[in-house]
Amino acid sequence: MRSIFAATLFAAVAIAPLFSAPGPFAGGVAHAQAVPPAAAPGAPQSEGIKVVLLGTGVGPPVNLQQYGASTVIEAGGQRLLFDCGRGATLRLAQAGIPIGSISRIFLTHLHSDHVIQLPDLLLVGWAVGHRAVPLTVWGPAGTRDMMDHLLQAFAFDIHMRRDVDEHFPAAGITVTSHDIQQEGVVFSENGLTVTAFLVDHGVVEPAFGYRVDYRGRSVVLSGDTRFSENLIRRARGVDVLIHEVIDPEMLRSRPDRPSAAVVDAIIAHHTTPEQAGTVFRRVAPRLAVYSHAPDTARVLAQTRTTYSGPLQGAEDLLTIRIGDEVQVEHDPMHAPAAVRSPTTP
Ligand SMILES: [Zn+2]
Ligand SMILES: [Zn+2]
Repeated sequence: MRSIFAATLFAAVAIAPLFSAPGPFAGGVAHAQAVPPAAAPGAPQSEGIKVVLLGTGVGPPVNLQQYGASTVIEAGGQRLLFDCGRGATLRLAQAGIPIGSISRIFLTHLHSDHVIQLPDLLLVGWAVGHRAVPLTVWGPAGTRDMMDHLLQAFAFDIHMRRDVDEHFPAAGITVTSHDIQQEGVVFSENGLTVTAFLVDHGVVEPAFGYRVDYRGRSVVLSGDTRFSENLIRRARGVDVLIHEVIDPEMLRSRPDRPSAAVVDAIIAHHTTPEQAGTVFRRVAPRLAVYSHAPDTARVLAQTRTTYSGPLQGAEDLLTIRIGDEVQVEHDPMHAPAAVRSPTTP
């Protein structure tokens, strides 16, 4: 899987110190910085966390540039998937990550834009990807029911391929589901821990964010949330904070927008760029990253009214390496124009 990254642009390797002024960074260019990490004593220098944003799009609308919410996090030889929105399996292939290598999935909540690619991952990861171990899924209440119903929905295919035709291993098409009951560590193996914490997605309860820690490195995913004090508390000291954002103006001007009342409700379930900037400023991560976010200059510019630290816009197939430095690698197909063909004066 190394080879896929050979094709990416290594565009922002520990560039640029802290940015203090808004404006010049509104174009979506990646910024990483070399702030000394809060590494655990004795942590090997080479050990770190790798994050791949598979899909960074907002909500259910089809978006060919930004697929549905999904993120891969790797550390200590383990690979975890967070959410499985539209196109997640296609992006896995593009990232060179074998679909069958995904056997642990963490869901932030059960809105369809976060889970709609699960059947593909479940079935094809087994039938083509040779997954021979159960798929283990963590998520809010209702996760177990959803996964059980998926197995029912595809019972014919499963029966044929497991019992009649190909005789693929039965273990690979079983699912172990965990309905997360409360905040806390939900996964811990070989020094890699995943902590679920509550965020505030309006009436969509519960909705979780996740914090991943490994040998003094850390990343937080907000999931879908409006401004959340709990997230700020849980993200304290984190290296990379991946946060959602909504563009109220974009939503209000969409030709297929629902009623004004529904639009207002949607906005109230999410975080505005100014609010996200405040979250970033208070958490002060080594790198703030948008996902589940419009990839627009306006969102970045509005964020800059409240936050001047390192900021990366939403971009599918973006790779973030968290080590002594935080490095960002762009996929050529999704990098902003300024990265594809630098126009630095
Ligand atoms: Zn969503
Ligand atoms: Zn949602």
